[in-house]
Amino acid sequence: MTARTVPAAAGPAAVPTPASPVRPYESYVYAYPHKTSYRPLPGRPALRDLWRAEPKDALSLYLHIPFCEVRCGFCNLFTRIGAPGELATRYLDALERQATAVRDALGEDTPVRFATAAFGGGTPTFLDPGELDRLCDIAEQRMGADLHSIALSVETSPATATADRLAVLAGRGATRLSLGVQSFVDDEARAAVRPQRRADVEAALARIRDTAVPVLNIDLIYGIDGQTPASWRTSLDAALAWRPEELYLYPLYVRPLTGLARRAAGPDPAWDAQRLRLYRQGRDHLLDSGYEQVSMRMFRRPGAPAQGPDDHACQTDGMIGLGCGARSYTSALHYSFDYAVDMHRIRTIIDDYTATRDFTVARHGRPVDTDEARRRHLLQSLLQAAGLPVADYRHRFGTDPHTDFPAELAGFAERGWLDPHAPPGLLRLSPEGLAHSDAVGPALFSPPVRAAMAAYETR
Ligand code: SF4
Repeated sequence: MTARTVPAAAGPAAVPTPASPVRPYESYVYAYPHKTSYRPLPGRPALRDLWRAEPKDALSLYLHIPFCEVRCGFCNLFTRIGAPGELATRYLDALERQATAVRDALGEDTPVRFATAAFGGGTPTFLDPGELDRLCDIAEQRMGADLHSIALSVETSPATATADRLAVLAGRGATRLSLGVQSFVDDEARAAVRPQRRADVEAALARIRDTAVPVLNIDLIYGIDGQTPASWRTSLDAALAWRPEELYLYPLYVRPLTGLARRAAGPDPAWDAQRLRLYRQGRDHLLDSGYEQVSMRMFRRPGAPAQGPDDHACQTDGMIGLGCGARSYTSALHYSFDYAVDMHRIRTIIDDYTATRDFTVARHGRPVDTDEARRRHLLQSLLQAAGLPVADYRHRFGTDPHTDFPAELAGFAERGWLDPHAPPGLLRLSPEGLAHSDAVGPALFSPPVRAAMAAYETR
């Protein structure tokens, strides 16, 4: 549902040098390697084999619901408008079949335990209360996740965050509710093709606070047509009034095949400058308001329960994704179902998913070898404000990141994106480096991943 799950755009990115132009918004590296680098897996490996030797005592569980009431203009997530007929029921039936097969593939030889769970989308609360109850049953009874004793995050929207749905989620153990607001200014919401009224957003926030679920996250977007420092401040202050435990500030992206794609493609220095200005304004305002910066996008209120998922947690190994848009990660393979942005293709993939009987194999994916694992570790750690303890990297891989990625790190340093004042042994972005996270991340993509993303035909 929320923009936090918007994945990276396809396309190559070069290691930045002082001579090359700065493009601060190459792409959001939510997951590496990106799904556009996945391909059909030869021989469709059996899940039982893929998971046999994996640690299974702290898995993450993600359930994907690919339905929304509207298609926001900036969104390229795997989701469709509405669920006509019995589609939601058929989807949950398939989810249940998949959960049964996956849990069976995890086996009983070693303890299987889930440490976190999340329902995302799409909009999970597109489901009605009874369907949400069933979703929780699938997580608990089919997968064995104890939702009352682990972090459970659920994404929601103003229109679907109804009291009856929220009551189900709170009753089943939700610890975090994330509301995609994007803007408290009605005209801006319209410009982002997400028509909503501020009064409805405020009412949804009140209902969420009434549940006493411990963590409220609010997503906001900057860089919308017509957005000014004053209107951005209005949204920031309206969000802060709810004292959310988490706030995500997202730069607007315009991607192929989305509702806003009519905007001119290609470099747009004026828009980049607007987004950077608004980012700095938002960051400084949240820091002045006592929030701690966790990453370029994420800010946390001090004292808020430090529970996931955040940018980093979503990247860890041991992820079980259920649903047709969800990824799963073992230490050696990332896999999912087919991926598309175009509405017709998405509908076809969802229909295929609901008709699937055999969920015992992995169909699309990308192997993650040692080089990719190193890149991924560096990338996901460096994009956190806390940075990368070099000793952790050395402990995991037996090498030094400066030796493994000399050109990339030298390029970042020359740009002033590495913090020269970081304590010894800590590789950390400077404030400007964090501001350029969406250039730093793509610069760490491997040549094969770049090539696969570039070859992917957007559909
Ligand atoms: S509510 Fe909008 S942003 Fe969220 S998944 Fe649906 S279409 Fe995308």
